[in-house]
Amino acid sequence: MSKPVLVVGAGPVGLTMAAELARYRVPVRLIETLPARTDQSRALAVWSRTLELLDAAGCADAFVATGLHASTLGIHSGRQRLARVTFKGIASSFRYLLIIAQSETERLLEEHFLTLGGTIERTTELTGFVDTGEGVTCTLTHAGGESEHVDAGWLIGCDGAHSFVRRRLGLGFEGDTLPTGFIIADTRVAGLALPPDELAIFWHHDGAVMFFPISPGRYRIIADIGAAPPPAMDLGVVQAIVDRRGPGGVSLSDPLWLSHFGVNERKVRTYRAGRVFLAGDAAHIHSPAGGQGMNTGMQDAFNLAWKLALVVRGEARPDLLDSYSAERSTVAQQVLNDSGRITRVVLLKNRLARLVRCLVVRGLFRIPMVPRAIANRLAGTRVGYAHSPLNAGCATGLRGPRPGQRFWADHPLGRGDAPRFTLAATDTPDVRVIIARHAALLNPAPCPPPDKNGIWLVRPDGYVAAAARSADWLVIDAALARIAASPPVPERI
Ligand SMILES: Cc1cc2nc3c(=O)[nH]c(=O)nc-3n(C[C@H](O)[C@H](O)[C@H](O)COP(=O)(O)OP(=O)(O)OC[C@H]3O[C@@H](n4cnc5c(N)ncnc54)[C@H](O)[C@@H]3O)c2cc1C
Repeated sequence: MSKPVLVVGAGPVGLTMAAELARYRVPVRLIETLPARTDQSRALAVWSRTLELLDAAGCADAFVATGLHASTLGIHSGRQRLARVTFKGIASSFRYLLIIAQSETERLLEEHFLTLGGTIERTTELTGFVDTGEGVTCTLTHAGGESEHVDAGWLIGCDGAHSFVRRRLGLGFEGDTLPTGFIIADTRVAGLALPPDELAIFWHHDGAVMFFPISPGRYRIIADIGAAPPPAMDLGVVQAIVDRRGPGGVSLSDPLWLSHFGVNERKVRTYRAGRVFLAGDAAHIHSPAGGQGMNTGMQDAFNLAWKLALVVRGEARPDLLDSYSAERSTVAQQVLNDSGRITRVVLLKNRLARLVRCLVVRGLFRIPMVPRAIANRLAGTRVGYAHSPLNAGCATGLRGPRPGQRFWADHPLGRGDAPRFTLAATDTPDVRVIIARHAALLNPAPCPPPDKNGIWLVRPDGYVAAAARSADWLVIDAALARIAASPPVPERI
């Protein structure tokens, strides 16, 4: 049996990582300092692409049944609605934003991990590690103070924004802290004349106030408050902001959570050092605008898990793992740029700039393409790996996605307990030869191609690794040969 992968941190990212490795039958240990799950609602947004990946992992149904399905985002100024973004145009079978408290997300992921035979080792902290080149020797400290040495094959730091793993590796966390803080309140709201499944943002010259529905009559409220933290944090402070910036006539009661926070926009340059990886907040932190942080982190985990599983199972070469940092670091940079841009637009203070913002939003959002593009960008359905080192071939002249683009919204063949590539091609003798030569990496049958003149190699996470005209199927064979751990079975070519 191979050495275990040690996953550090049982937040949403560590839980996703450990569950995916367990699904692929990779020995995994998941450790967590805290004695119990968070009971804070924290990240509320689970976007469509994350739901698609949870679906392939076999646990989306529980999420869909538990969360609230938000259908629109309204942008308002006082009592006037300036624009509306509907989520119905998201190119996914999940055409809504799922609103679910992070405490519930963690509960559902934990249950999923337990059904796969996993356990969470709580009150267990990673306090040291050395990468020996053959593995990672880790020191764990248990609740009573006793130490344990673990000989792990790989170490994955999903240990949050203050990551011990990142600091121990000496990796810089480059970026900025925004010069404004925010208040946050999860509270009962009366008098808000909005559909119950609509998110709303109200712009005002003092700043913005946002309402996110959590459950009937209950909302998450977020507002910017400038550089100084509020002298006292109580419901009166939030009510005063809502009265001034909101539509009027809204009253708040029964707060479950009141807090304030600052916003950092930072990321590491590389997510990998030898046998150690970073994922989630340990690698990148964002403004909460757009609700992307947790989603990006969970998608890091989905990206790394199938690659590491193939390597640990001896089915792929270790250099497959280099694509993880290249792909996910680019995505995090885009998310940082987007969420930073949204935050700056929301926080505009200059009178003229605010006027222009209203005019532009009113005009642009009337063009159906604009709100649709924004909804898809937020939903993560446009995430792709155009510059991945795994990409091969091209789809020029073919009707179908290019290398790096998402092939499947829902991944019909991604649900098994082995990470497998799939050929999307007409079933011909040549295609059968490729499948026979790379049986350890490929699903045993091709699926229908989007264009009968082409052949696509689809990754276990549903993105295109390679594309070519049917006659150029050697391109696909070569792409697989570059990934495979052993030389292809010498079938006729
Ligand atoms: C107020 C607020 C609102 C947010 N809203 C959204 C939103 O709407 N949408 C969104 O996508 N994101 C949102 N986020 C961000 C989201 O909460 C984070 O991105 C998410 O929690 C990151 O998950 P993670 O698993 O990477 O890290 P964490 O959730 O921080 O988990 C890390 C875990 O590692 C453990 N740990 C740390 N060090 C060690 C160690 N040495 N040994 C063992 N265990 C260790 C910690 O105890 C912790 O449990 C929000 C955040 C905040 C604060």
